[in-house]
Amino acid sequence: MSGDCIFCTIVRREAPASIVREDADTLAFMDIQPMNPGHVLVIPKAHAAFLKDLPRGQAGPVFEAAREISFALRHSGLRCDAVSMYLADGKEAGQDVFHTHLHLIPRFAGDGFGLRPTPGFGRIADRAELEDQAARIRRGLAQSAR
Ligand code: AMP
Ligand code: ZN
Repeated sequence: MSGDCIFCTIVRREAPASIVREDADTLAFMDIQPMNPGHVLVIPKAHAAFLKDLPRGQAGPVFEAAREISFALRHSGLRCDAVSMYLADGKEAGQDVFHTHLHLIPRFAGDGFGLRPTPGFGRIADRAELEDQAARIRRGLAQSAR
């Protein structure tokens, strides 16, 4: 837990939150600035600024919670024909709260929400480029604590 982290404060029940689900490892609550009605955040209870900092075994429960909540959203009566899940992992990815969290955003046609594609988006990449990138990531995986 981190003393000045708002999400740790919520885990300690020292700040208000509208909680939808809790288990031993995760907490899920309503986002105070929803992209669409029903926007939920799922967090690991353990403090970790980025996903890479979570101890082994603590990431899976976040996605298991998301699985259940994505079902619940579709059966909630809220407008939810689909769900976008989004995890901003780092400042340049749009992260504002540095306790890793997964957004679940109810979606429906014409809701206006979306990711902005980069220039050149949509081109099929060269296989050689993909192989080079995959090799770099495999080397990173070999260095990561698995
Ligand atoms: P991100 O930009 O991915 O780091 O997302 C942070 C999210 O946390 C934003 O959508 C905020 O609206 C939300 N947020 C910040 N403080 C709180 C809070 N006290 N309770 C619920 N959601 C919060
Ligand atoms: Zn925290």
